[in-house]
Amino acid sequence: MARAPLVDGHGRRIGDLRVSVTDRCNFRCQYCMPAEGLPWLERDDVLSFEEIARLVRLFAELGVEAVRLTGGEPLVRRDFPALAAMLAAVPGLADLSLTTNGYLLERDAEALVAAGISRFNVSIDSLQRDRFFRMTRRDALPRVLAGLEALARFPEAHPIKVNAVALRGFTEDEVLPFARFAREHPYEVRFIEFMPLDADHAWTPEDVLTGEEVRAAIHAVYPLEPEPREPSATARVHRFADGKGRIGFINPVSEPFCDDCNRVRLTADGKLRTCLFSLGETDLRAPLRAGASDDDVETVIRDAVWRKELKHRVNDPGFVQPARSMSAIGG
Ligand code: SAM
Ligand code: SF4
Repeated sequence: MARAPLVDGHGRRIGDLRVSVTDRCNFRCQYCMPAEGLPWLERDDVLSFEEIARLVRLFAELGVEAVRLTGGEPLVRRDFPALAAMLAAVPGLADLSLTTNGYLLERDAEALVAAGISRFNVSIDSLQRDRFFRMTRRDALPRVLAGLEALARFPEAHPIKVNAVALRGFTEDEVLPFARFAREHPYEVRFIEFMPLDADHAWTPEDVLTGEEVRAAIHAVYPLEPEPREPSATARVHRFADGKGRIGFINPVSEPFCDDCNRVRLTADGKLRTCLFSLGETDLRAPLRAGASDDDVETVIRDAVWRKELKHRVNDPGFVQPARSMSAIGG
């Protein structure tokens, strides 16, 4: 059935849905989760594969073309490749992608590519084993790099992105090694500014190593040239002037990209969030489980999306950090 495109009250058309498939994770990254983990959702509270597929189908009918699967760590969800295959079959979806910490990629790469995931982001914050351990609280760098290599063997998985959160006092020592990594491997490395979505609520503006600082440090050694920004893109991409690869900067704090934001998010327990920093969310699971028709659910979605925030307020006085942290929202 043809449905009108999904637009918000500021005229932005929604084309990108981030779906969190679990709030659980096998890592405990400093900027995301506390060392002891978080109270996990009860299993019954988490959307089933069928519920996720129904909502994704509906969003696709509303004009969403790109779905990114995330978490928590998506690969810890049992039979995750089967869910990916269900979603890859949804008519109208042009782009099914995955964000993962890579720990289980050696096991799953083949199944994920076969399921139809076409783009992969692997999160790696340090290329040194001891520093990786310090940041993720897991001694897992060799295993993650092996997972990345396993994925890279599949031509269909390329281009592969490697994402590093940039934290002042930590990432400075990683910048040039990551630049060399991007030059020597077929991966596009992207630095993400640290956002106030950490479960410990320890974020301060001083902790943000800005994308511009990182870019300048790389440019001084390996000259960079900017590429044009794609509409609604989160990353500012630069190519190495000598043609050896690309590197990107996701700067939500220092250079917000809210103006043409086309994204909404679905949490693992079926709440629709119209911004990473939303203070409210809209329950889609309750209507789904109460037997609502697709038309009824569409009305709930349209109403929530219409009220999508104009912009985030991270840099405003009185900014309030959302109660849920990144792993519980789905980054
Ligand atoms: N577990 C998977 C992973 O780490 O790739 C997927 C979920 S994780 C929440 C998604 C992305 O959010 C990762 O690249 C992670 O580094 C990033 N992230 C988590 N907390 C963040 C924060 N406070 N600021 C910026 N990025 C953050
Ligand atoms: Fe887990 Fe990803 Fe959060 Fe790290 S960033 S704790 S891997 S959800």
